[in-house]
Formats: sequence, C-alpha cells, structure tokens
Amino acid sequence: MEKKQFKTESKRILDMMVNSIYTHRDIFLRELVSNASDAIDKIYYKTLADDTLTFEKDKYYISIASEKENRIVKISDTGIGMTEKELTDNLGVIAKSGSLAFKKENEIKDGYDIIGQFGVGFYSAFMVADNITVISKAFGNDKAYKWESTGADGYTIEPCEKDSVGTEITLKIKENTEDDNFDEFLDENGLKSIIKKYSDFIRYPIKMNVSNSKLKEGSETEYEDIVEEKTINSMVPIWRKNKSELTDEDYNNFYAEKHYGFDKPLKHIHISVDGVISYNSILYIPEKTPYDFYTKEYEKGLELYSNGVLIMNKCADLLPDYFSFVKGIVDSEDLSLNISREVLQHDRQLQLIAKNIKSKIKSELENLLKNEREKYEIFYKSFGRQLKYGIYSDYGSNKDTLQDLLLFYSSKEKKNVTLDEYVSRMPEDQKYIYYASGETNARIEKLPQIEMVSDKGFEILYFTDEVDEFAIRMIAKYKEKEFKSVSSGDLGIEAEKKEEPSEVDDKENKELFEHMKAVLAGKVNDVRASKRLKNYPVCLSNDGELTIEMEKTLNSMPNNENVKADKVLEININNDMFKVLKESFEKDKSKLDLYTNILYNQALLIEGLPINDPVEFTNNICKVMI
Ligand code: ADP
Repeated sequence: MEKKQFKTESKRILDMMVNSIYTHRDIFLRELVSNASDAIDKIYYKTLADDTLTFEKDKYYISIASEKENRIVKISDTGIGMTEKELTDNLGVIAKSGSLAFKKENEIKDGYDIIGQFGVGFYSAFMVADNITVISKAFGNDKAYKWESTGADGYTIEPCEKDSVGTEITLKIKENTEDDNFDEFLDENGLKSIIKKYSDFIRYPIKMNVSNSKLKEGSETEYEDIVEEKTINSMVPIWRKNKSELTDEDYNNFYAEKHYGFDKPLKHIHISVDGVISYNSILYIPEKTPYDFYTKEYEKGLELYSNGVLIMNKCADLLPDYFSFVKGIVDSEDLSLNISREVLQHDRQLQLIAKNIKSKIKSELENLLKNEREKYEIFYKSFGRQLKYGIYSDYGSNKDTLQDLLLFYSSKEKKNVTLDEYVSRMPEDQKYIYYASGETNARIEKLPQIEMVSDKGFEILYFTDEVDEFAIRMIAKYKEKEFKSVSSGDLGIEAEKKEEPSEVDDKENKELFEHMKAVLAGKVNDVRASKRLKNYPVCLSNDGELTIEMEKTLNSMPNNENVKADKVLEININNDMFKVLKESFEKDKSKLDLYTNILYNQALLIEGLPINDPVEFTNNICKVMI
C-alpha cells in the first residue's frame, strides 16, 4: 500500500515525539481523551441544531481498554468520527498549535521544550506508542477508514469495517528498555490514575474494565476476579455544580483531595461567570501559613482547566503576588487546550479572568473584614505580611487595592484596627496618623517616645513587622493624612504653653548640649531638650526620613550599605537627672562625660539597639555607684 508522507513540519514534530525524553508523557491520554470528548461534543451540538435528532446520553461515552500481553491500549469514542479526507487533513498535518510550535523551532533545542510548552495533541501518543491505528466512521457516512502510522516515515489509509459511528485509536505501547518503562500505560491501575489525574471532570463517562476480587458464588472463603465495566471519572466537577447543592464539607473535602493544604480553609469563593468571558472557579483562603510560604520555594498559582481538561497545575498568571496564598482552580471554555505558557501570559481571556479573580478575592476579603472580623484576624495573622509586601513592592502601585485590608494594633483600642477606623476617630487638632515601631506591642508600649502623643490623647498604631514602616511609606497619605513616627524630629503637636519653652531652654543650655554632642561625636547628630518626654529622662529620635527602625531593618539585610538614621539624643529637662547634668557641667566635666555616655547607652537599650561596648557601659554604671 502506498505510504503517504506527513507535511514537513509535522514530520519534525513527530520525530521529536518518537524520541521524546519528556517526563510527563502520561499527558498523551489526556490529549486523546480530550479529542474524544470534543468529538462527542460535536455530535451533541449537531443534535441541538437538528430537531430530527436526539442526544441519547447513554450512547455517548469514551472507553479505554488494555491488552497487557499484546502491549495494546485502545481508546474509543462514540463521537462524530472522521471521513477519509478528515483523517488525512487532521492527522496528516500538525494542528494549529503545532504550527506555532514549529515557528518557534529555531529557539527550541529538543522535543522537551515543545511538548512541555505546547502539548501537541494527537501526536503526543507517539511518546508512548510505536504504532498507532485510527479506525473511524464519520457521522452520516457508511464507510469506515483505517489510518495507520509507525511515526515519522508516513501513514497509510484504507477502507475498513466498523459498525458504529465514532473513532477507535489503537496504540501499540513501546517495549521497555533499560532506561524506560512503559508498563504503567498498560496497567489497569496506572491508566486509572492517569484518567483521575487529568480527565476526572470530562463530562462524558470514561469507561474501563476493572477487575475486582469478589467472593465466589456459593462459597464463603473462595474469591474470584470479576471484571466489570466501570466509569472512572466523576464527570461533574464540583465547580460546575450549583452553589446551593454544595455544603461546606464538600468544599473542604475538595480542598483536602487537591492537597491545597493540611488545614481547613478559612473561606471558599465559588465563582461562576458567564459573559464576555465564561469561567467557573473555586478559590480558597487557607487558615494557616504554609511552612514555605515566605520562602523562595513557595510557588503561587491556580490549577487551570480548559473545559474540564487540566492544562496547568499552577498557573501563576492568574494570581497577583500579594494574593499568592489563594489556592484553587479555574475552568474556562474560552481557553484553548494546547496553549503554551508564554502565549498564555498574553492571552486576553486569561488576563480578563485574572483581573476578575483579583477583584473577587479583594471583595471577599473586604467582606470578611466587615462581617467576620474574627476570621479576618486569623487570616491577617497568617497572611497580613504578604499584603504589606504587596503594598511595598511594584513601587506602591497596588496600595489602593490593599490599604483598606491592613490592620495594626492600636494603643487606644488595645486591638487591631484598620486605617479607616483610625482616621474616622481622629480629633480635629490631630494632624498625623501616628505610629511607633518596635519588636513587640509590649515593648512599644514602654517606649518613652510615645509619651507625648499618648498624653495628648492621640491614638498610636504599633508596627511590629519589619515591612510595616516601608509599606506605610509607600502609602504616604491615607485620606489626606500623613503618617508620622513618634520618634520623628517634629511631631506636629502644638506645645501646650504659649511661649516655646524648649527653644528658650535650648539656647540657655546650648553650651551644655554642645559639650554632650562633642562627647557623642559620630554617634548622634544632635543633643536637644525633648519636646516629647514627660517622665522618662532620655530617648532617641531621628531627623530626616530614615527612622531608627528602618535603619535596623535595612542593616539586617544581606549586602546592606550600612545606612544610618540621623539620630538625636533627647534630654528631658524637667527630669531631676537634668539638674545633675547641669551641675556637673559647671563643676566636673569628666562626670558629665560619664553621664552622657550612660544616658546615650540607655537610649540605645530602650530603642532595642545594640550597645557598642557593654563592658564599658557596665563599668561606667559602677563608677557612678562608687
Ligand atoms: P487539536 O485537538 O489541538 O486540534 P490534534 O492533533 O489532537 O489537535 O487533533 C487534530 C484534529 O483531529 C482534531 O482537531 C479533530 O478534528 C481530529 N480528531 C482527533 N481525534 C479525534 C476523534 N477521536 N474523533 C474525531 N476527530 C478527532
């Protein structure tokens, strides 16, 4: 019989398939099952358009059978079938997706990339089979045809017998070699698990003969293997079901089945959109932070299905980084099955879906915050930091999306509050949103710097995450209000008394402070009378933009450039300690030097900064005692 040649481009792809070392070659079954399902779809649509035809559900299915000894796997369907011309046209050239792969061939060194990035439909069967026969009878035709090929050297077509309309594909599975084992594609359980993995939600039944060990009739001890035809796939995916049919348990089970996490999800979001784009989706907000969440190893992404067929395990493009904690699946009829990762990134449909999903997640989180505050607090504990990173990264371009989802501990409320809650109860004379940074709430509570602001009755937000201050700097202003660190030089609080006492005092004590400044040369930029201290003797504050907390964080990063905040040692001139300073300034300068050093180190300790020379510090304290 005359052998027909494949079109040149198909031939090259085929060569790659035959010699493939691609690790996910089990996808061949997904491709063939998906073709079969499409073929049944086509008949289904025909019956929809033609009143004389009816779609008898039971007649339409896909069946998979294996003959282990002969190394044969058969995939049959009762779909629309192919005519002689269609067999040549469809299976003789690589499909559109293949052409795309071919165009990129220059950039692709071997088959691995092509298969991985494009998936090549029917041809992928050559990864596991060295001979493929397709027997098909097209809808409305009497004659059936047989197409056969052993790979790149061409194919034959001849008439044959087939009773019913549909297609039967016979794969002669490759022999095992030293490096390669193909037995899983012949094995009942192997095939079953591949079907479950990739095609569980194909909407037509995928039937297979399954052997079961059962008690022999009439016997109580003897077992026999009974072979029964079973439907392997579950057919209706949970995301296509009606929300009202589903219970929380259904959603939780699915979460567990998919190994999205070992916790129970905090919230599920079931989306069914039918419009310019159509898609179904189930998304989950986990309760606990995955152990690798804040590491490079963590991979974000949603499972992506095209019409019930899995095309990608973790489609990263569906989720912005700041929502990377979201798990779940998206199924859309608008996406092509054989779509590459690169192409997918620019796919308009996918972008629309991603945008839609982003706003759904946002509004669900807002709802949670509004209506289920306790749950939101749990969420925030696990993933709040990710939201703050989200504000800080991308030059703050996402701050509008995220700022209302932030929570900070409040000095007044003694619990977490939103920025909106804070601003809405600001008294008229309060110009800024005040914050204080420190390791824990308890430590911040004791910071001398917060005295003045708290005394004034103003609320202070506690920043305990390193990223907090950086994120807030990105926001810059919330509802027209700027943020202000309680340690910053100018607190923007009007002094209570009429004259500016500290400025006057500043002048009066100028020489004393100059002296102290000289003692602390290189350590602080200035020594000043404090406007913010009431009870505590000293504290550090900063001039300029860079706060001491930011200095700490930046310097703890690898490859830091050793940044320095402009530190100011503030002295409480109303504290008795100040009298001692003044006295020693007049009588004994060496005493003043000693006190200055001690006070500076105390201020460092309060701030949670390391003391340069602890031994010297403790010796100094002893000197005072003697
Ligand atoms: P794709 O599915 O991306 O178009 P394939 O190489 O998998 O590429 O298939 C090429 C074409 O062959 C399909 O578009 C379809 O028209 C036809 N085809 C493949 N398998 C079947 C089948 N089981 N029944 C009917 N037609 C089929």
